[in-house]
This record gives sequence, C-alpha cells and structure tokens, in this order.
Amino acid sequence: MKKVGFFKSIHFKFVLIYVLLILIAMQIISVYFVQRIEKQLVSNFSESLNERVDLLAYNLEQEMIIERNEGMPTLEEKVQTILSDFFSGEKADVRVIDKNSRVVGTTNLNNLQIIGRRVTDIRVKQALVAGFRDQGKIMVDSQTAHRLLVLTVPIKSGNNVLGVINLQASMESVYEQLKQINTIFVNATVIALTITALLGIFLAQTITRPMSDMRKQAQEMTKGNFTRKVKVYGYDEIGQLAITFNNLTKRLQEAQATTEGERRKLSSVLTHMTDGVIATDRKGRIILINDPAADMLNVSRETVLAESVLSVLGIEEEYTLEKVIEEVDYLILDFSTKQKPYILKVSFSVIQKETGLVNGLIAVLYDITEQEKIEQERREFVANVSHELRTPLTTMRSYLEALAEGAWKDEEIAPKFLDVTQTETERMIRLVNDLLQLSKLDSKDYRFVKEWVHFPSYFNRIIDRFELTKEQNVTFNRHIVDQELFVEMDEDKITQVLDNIISNALKYSPEGGQIEFHLKQHDDCIEVTVTDQGVGIPKENINHIFDRFYRVDKARTRKLGGTGLGLAIAKEMVVAHGGDIWVDSEEGIGTTFHFTLPVDQEFEDEWE
Ligand code: ADP
Repeated sequence: MKKVGFFKSIHFKFVLIYVLLILIAMQIISVYFVQRIEKQLVSNFSESLNERVDLLAYNLEQEMIIERNEGMPTLEEKVQTILSDFFSGEKADVRVIDKNSRVVGTTNLNNLQIIGRRVTDIRVKQALVAGFRDQGKIMVDSQTAHRLLVLTVPIKSGNNVLGVINLQASMESVYEQLKQINTIFVNATVIALTITALLGIFLAQTITRPMSDMRKQAQEMTKGNFTRKVKVYGYDEIGQLAITFNNLTKRLQEAQATTEGERRKLSSVLTHMTDGVIATDRKGRIILINDPAADMLNVSRETVLAESVLSVLGIEEEYTLEKVIEEVDYLILDFSTKQKPYILKVSFSVIQKETGLVNGLIAVLYDITEQEKIEQERREFVANVSHELRTPLTTMRSYLEALAEGAWKDEEIAPKFLDVTQTETERMIRLVNDLLQLSKLDSKDYRFVKEWVHFPSYFNRIIDRFELTKEQNVTFNRHIVDQELFVEMDEDKITQVLDNIISNALKYSPEGGQIEFHLKQHDDCIEVTVTDQGVGIPKENINHIFDRFYRVDKARTRKLGGTGLGLAIAKEMVVAHGGDIWVDSEEGIGTTFHFTLPVDQEFEDEWE
C-alpha cells in the first residue's frame, strides 16, 4: 500500500482545521470588536470636541455682545487669547469668524495673516445665515492624508448669529489607538494559533496514532500476517475501535486458518483422487484441474487454465455451456485410437449460489475404458455362446425333423442322421463343459489339487498317449532330457493344457508333418514348446488366439470339432499356475506354442 503523504494525512488535516477555526474565530471577533471600538472612540472624540466648542462659543458670545471701549483689547485680541487658552498645545485648527464672514481669530499661529480675511466656506455660510450646526464631519487632509474632524458651530445670542467657530481637529490619535488595539489582536491571534497548532498536533496524535497503528496492522493483514496487535491507548471510542480491530484480526486469523485447512484438505483430496476433477467459473473457463484430469485429457495443467472446459473436452461443437448446465448429467467421450481404446465418462454438476445463479461447473472424469471393455466382452461372450449353441441346435432340429418326417424308416439314412445329432450333442456338451470350466476359473475360489510331478516323464506319458491314438501320418520328435525336474502343479489341468496344444498341432498338421516337443529349464521356470508344421496363424490373428471363441478359420475349425475355448482355458490355467503362455507362428510354415511353469520356491509356497 502507498504511504500516506504528510499533506494528505489526517494529522495534517486535523491541525489545519484547528488552526483555521481559530483564525476565523479570531478574525470575526477582531473585526466586530475593532469596529465597535472605532465607533466608540470616534464618538467620544466628537462629543468631547463638541462640548469644548460649545463652551468656546459661549465665551466668544460674551466677548462679542459687549460694547468695546477705547482702551479695551480689540475683539481679535480677545478671541486670540480665548483660543490659546482653550487649545494651547493641541493639534486643532480653530477659526473664529464674525457675522461678516471675516476671520477674527485662529489657533494656527503660522497662518495669522488670514485674520481679517473673508471666508467663503459653504458650511460657514450656512451656519451664519441659518444658524446651522454641523455636528462633525470626518474629512481627509489632502496633504498629510490625516483624518480630520470638522465642526462648524454658530455663535448665537438668542436667535442672532454673532459668528461661527470652524474647527478642524486631527483624529490621528484615535486611529493610533485603534492601530495599537489591532496590533494586540494580531499578537493574540498569533499566540493563540501557535498554542492551538501545538495542541492540535498533540491532540491529533492521540487520535491518529491508533489509527495509523490500525492502518499498519491492516497492511500486514493483507500480507497474511495476523500476529501483530494494535496497542490500545485508552477506552474511548478509538480505544474501543482498536479492541474491536484486534478481535476482528483474531477472527480473521481463525477464519483464514480454517479456510487454509479446508483448502489443503481439498487440494490433497483432489491430488490423491484417481478420478479427474475440473472446476470452472460461471463462463465455463477452467479455474482448477487436478493431475489425473490433466493426464486423462493429455494436457498440461498450466496451459488449460482459463481455457473453455468444452474445448478442452473437445465437445464445443456439439454442446454449448447452457446446454451442459441445463440438460447434461454425464457424457461418454470416446478418445479411442486404432491402437488403443480410451473411453472417458464425464459427470457434470453445477455450482449454484443461494439465489440460484450459476457460479460454475464441476466436471468429474472417470476412465471407463476397462469397464467398457469388460462390458463389450460380456456382450460378445453372450452373443458367442448363443451363436455356438444355436448352430448345433439348428443342425439337430433339421435332422430330427427329417427323421420325424419319415427318414427314421430309411435304414441307410437314419443311422447317419442319428450319428450327426449325436456328434452335435457331444459338441454341445463339450462346449457347456468348457464354459463351466471357464466360469469356475473366473470365480476366484477355484482350487487346484497340486502335487510334485516329475515333469520329463509326465510330458513323455502325454506324448505317448497321442502317439498311440493318432490317426494322422505325423512324426513326433521329442527333445526331452530325462533329468530330476519336479514341478508342483495340478496334473489334470496341465494335462488339459497339453492335450489342447497337442491336439491342435495334430489337427492343423499336414499329412507327413512333424511335431517337435521341447522341454527347457530356466532359472525360475520350465518352458514347454510344441512346434508343428501346419497352416500357421496369420499375424493379425496372433494376438487374439487366446480369446474366448476366437477361431482363425471359423468354418474349418468348427468342422474339426473345436469350441474356440480350448486355448482360452489353457491360458487361464497356465496363468493361474503363475506361468505364461504365448505363440510364435508363420503362415504356411508352422506354429510354436510355448508355456512356462514356475519352479520358484516362493511361488510354490502360495499353493500349499
Ligand atoms: P478350437 O477348439 O477351435 O481348436 P482353440 O482355442 O484350441 O479352439 O484354438 C483357437 C484357434 O486357434 C483355432 O480355431 C485355430 O484357428 C487356431 N489354432 C490353434 N492351434 C493352432 C495351430 N497349431 N496351428 C494353427 N492354428 C491354430
């Protein structure tokens, strides 16, 4: 956060307001006060002058009304004496004018020559003619710029105007006094302002210090530091605010700890979940995606953030966000390639606010490839079983119908037909037996009866049996070293595996072909191989040879009586023994079946 500049701080504003208030108050008081004082002083000055002039007028009247004899001082001399008695040492210019408008006396000793001259002043004339008294007028001396109070008072005896006193008194003493008072005010204001400013600074500090503490605390809180506490300076409103602020900090800290804990839990759940999770904002832009989701969609977490979830799922052409929110609960997305099946199920749930407003979307991704594969296999299995059963049943029905329709009477055909139905029945029984066996192997509680078997002699016994019963012209070549090689196994089951492989080898061997039998010993297992010179298996079919009901040439193998389950059962059995089974084949040259059985002590213990 930016540092608050001094001139923008509350501190400064507080002091400024304080100072301005005092300044305004002082100004108003001083203007009012000075005005009143000025009025009072002027009025006092004027009153005292008027009184003195009245007294002077009386004295002059006495002098003017008496008859003057020889030997008496002249009127002018008398007036001059009276004037100097009244205004000695004062800065007042007083003129006495007789009824003929002639100056008879003046206090201005520098201007005595005006005595005897006539006066033309209008106010003097008005006073002489009408006995008009001018109480006092303030005028400004054009030379000295001093303010003067001018009085024009008639000297009356009854109703007769004997003369006029014209007085001009300087008022500078009055204004000098006012000036002094103003100076006192200015000084008082300056002192008051200084004291106020100092007090303001102190007062402002008491208010702003807790505030700036709280500001610092709030700044720390935004950085996630909740350990600081605001100092409580007192229990006034600001103190209460500081206490509340501290409580708030504590609550926030607790809330943040809870949120953080929840966030950690959530992120741990999300990262350790095997399902993929994508969360979006209300516009469908990804705000969270966990690793499994990124792996499932083969995208990097960083690059898809803020991308549209629809485009990341590759459904932006078929679906709009509104449609997904309103109509779609889940989608099955098929990302399968030729090499690899890959199917995802995406369930959507909408996050809504209490107001019902959509806040975002959560998409949970499950990899259902395996599930789909199992489902597909199950469907195929049911279809295959039905198909496998239907073929012999239809054959039997048509033969039985023929027999019922009279063929039974034909001694030549009847036994043939019955023979076919018998073969088909046996095939069905074989098929059902194989299916039963597979289903037993599928249910894990299948138990093997294991015993130690001397494998070379056991292997020879099996081959002997085939050698004795075989009808084809096929040579058996054994590469079995008679050694002390014991394997713990369920003899019946491994016999079934070998029977299947050897009978297939015989079935697909050409006339005069050879079948090689190998027994090899490895570190932890034995390997049995049976090689024929038969038709071989095309490359594209090799991977499916152990699948249930899989046959390369369906028509031909069915004719040979196969159910298509032999190798599937063989594989289940070898794998259940902890071994492996595989095939190498080249079309037209021959086929080699390999299977291993472990001779590992550890594994053997498991079956005890
Ligand atoms: P079936 O009972 O039909 O023989 P299997 O599971 O034993 O069923 O064999 C599956 C298919 O594998 C056969 O239908 C056949 O096409 C092929 N097959 C098995 N063994 C050989 C072999 N030795 N040579 C050529 N093809 C074979």
